[in-house]
Amino acid sequence: MNVPLLDLKRQYQTIKDEINAAIGEVVESQGFKLGPRVAAFEQEIASYCGTKRAVGVASGTDAILLALMAAGVGRDDEVITTPYTFFATAGAVTRVGARPVFVDIDPRTYNIDPSKIEDAITERTKAIMPVHLYGQCADMDPILEIAERRGVPVVEDAAQAIGSEYRGRRAGSMGLLGCFSFFPSKNLGGYGDGGMITTDSDELADLLVSLREHGQTETYHHWTIGTNSRLDALQAAVLSVKLRHLDGWSDGRAANADYYDSRFEGTGVAAPHREEWNRHIYNQYIVRVPERDELLSYLRESGIGCAIYYPKPLHLQECFKTLGYSKGDMPESERASAETISIPIFSLLSDEEKTHVADKVLGFVKG
Ligand SMILES: *Cc1c(COP(=O)(O)O)cnc(C)c1O
Repeated sequence: MNVPLLDLKRQYQTIKDEINAAIGEVVESQGFKLGPRVAAFEQEIASYCGTKRAVGVASGTDAILLALMAAGVGRDDEVITTPYTFFATAGAVTRVGARPVFVDIDPRTYNIDPSKIEDAITERTKAIMPVHLYGQCADMDPILEIAERRGVPVVEDAAQAIGSEYRGRRAGSMGLLGCFSFFPSKNLGGYGDGGMITTDSDELADLLVSLREHGQTETYHHWTIGTNSRLDALQAAVLSVKLRHLDGWSDGRAANADYYDSRFEGTGVAAPHREEWNRHIYNQYIVRVPERDELLSYLRESGIGCAIYYPKPLHLQECFKTLGYSKGDMPESERASAETISIPIFSLLSDEEKTHVADKVLGFVKG
């Protein structure tokens, strides 16, 4: 039996009529740039995340880039973040002229370890950017406490975590700004690229609205320099439809995770750790085994979709060589990148499929 890591065709079949109608409406209107469709979706995301405002942009990467610009991060500043994340987190820091300062992860949750943040703060620190990896929020209370005490804003990379909760608060609503991605494989994925920034600050939201259109206040009048980064109306129309189904899908993922957790308990397969106060939306379900590369080949040969997120932590990437990190500096991130693997978790997995995946994983560890 072949089991894909993610099957978006299956999802489309369940919402086809709604999606096609929404796309048809935009095409009929020929209004593709911003407009009422995008404004409505921004309002929907703000209310879903529990923030006052939300501003649509062209991708999750741009959401981080523009959020950092809005937070005033620039040349020679430092941003504290995790090296165990998708490249965009630190790439965006460098793109605004600042320097990523990496802090190692908590090996149970794969999120930044708050107890190591304070030592990394200097007078150049202009932001702390936790990533809510795989759909589980970072341990935000100690992060927010340090940030407040040291007068440094928090920007959340919530690209993998829409709808996830930390002690009742939604991802993207805890920091000064929250960054989301609608890349197709995210829990709320568009039919192309898209992103969103959430905030309670009208001032920052208005600034972002200007930055996403080349820093204009009115057409052809530019008070600052931004970029071209809009969410388009077609994506907003698709995403509005999908947002209505998002909680059902995320609950389906969590139910699949409960099933795997129960199968892996007490075996040589370490299931992901979920803090009891978190709502985890399982953008990925990560298992940990010492012979990860062998498990990867074994599952691939058995027709089971799987992937490594992420095989090389960012402090060891060639492009960041000048930052001066070396192997051994972030031991938990390095270990995680060698021992973890992502297995199918999407909500429309059949019972037969998830049984098969669990059987195969367990068959491997039992040899
Ligand atoms: C997907 C992702 C991004 C970037 O989003 P894009 O929409 O692909 O640009 C940033 N950070 C994390 C943690 C991500 O998973």
